[in-house]
Amino acid sequence: MRYHKIPDETIRRLPVYLRALLFLSEQGRQSISSRDMAEFFGVKPWQIRKDFSYFGDFGTRGVGYDTGKLAREIKKILRLNIVRKVALIGVGNLGSAVLAYPGFKIYGFDIAAAFDNNPKKIGRKIGDIIIEDTSSLSSLKKRKINLAIIAVPQEAAQQTADALVRAGIKGILNFSPCYITVPKKVKVITIDIAMDLARLPYYMPAG
Ligand code: NAD
Repeated sequence: MRYHKIPDETIRRLPVYLRALLFLSEQGRQSISSRDMAEFFGVKPWQIRKDFSYFGDFGTRGVGYDTGKLAREIKKILRLNIVRKVALIGVGNLGSAVLAYPGFKIYGFDIAAAFDNNPKKIGRKIGDIIIEDTSSLSSLKKRKINLAIIAVPQEAAQQTADALVRAGIKGILNFSPCYITVPKKVKVITIDIAMDLARLPYYMPAG
């Protein structure tokens, strides 16, 4: 089954729901009411009902939602029901933190390769990963890696993205604070912490 009409806003919330559902499942909680779920997720109950209405009704009156079933369905929609290998480009301050972050695993992501262009870093081992030279990015296709994280300086971001596209990458999480252009078939999500921080004061009390 494919889910063509799920709005982006709902897709954005699905990983939040998934993380909470997996946590609840781990705690042995088999079901949760929509009211508890709204409180747990930090969203309004109507929002949850609307979001879930796009892909079926997993609630049972008086019992609530089946946490395991719902988590499995969300994984299917997000295509997270298989382990996905990810390549990291740029193993500096941020890249090293990304490599050390255990939080990717709950969504089935495996940072399986890391690349840098600094000769002093190439060949160094971080955990199980040996940092490779960016000149061997073309090996990604053969290794069935089609997702990548860019953590290089801004001025190297576009050329890195171009090399990744040539290597068959289909999805890029870009930490460089700039816009990068890629062909239509490639999806880029840019995360700019400073930009998010810049929105915060607007919501704070003045003074
Ligand atoms: P950094 O200088 O510590 O690391 C950058 C790494 O990229 C270095 O290891 C460098 O050798 C490598 N590199 C440079 N050019 C390259 C290329 N062409 N190909 C492959 N590797 C290359 O920088 P950082 O602090 O880790 O930041 C990385 C990116 O993330 C920057 O764009 C930065 O603006 C952004 N960012 C960083 C932070 C942070 O907290 N460090 C937060 C938000 C965003």
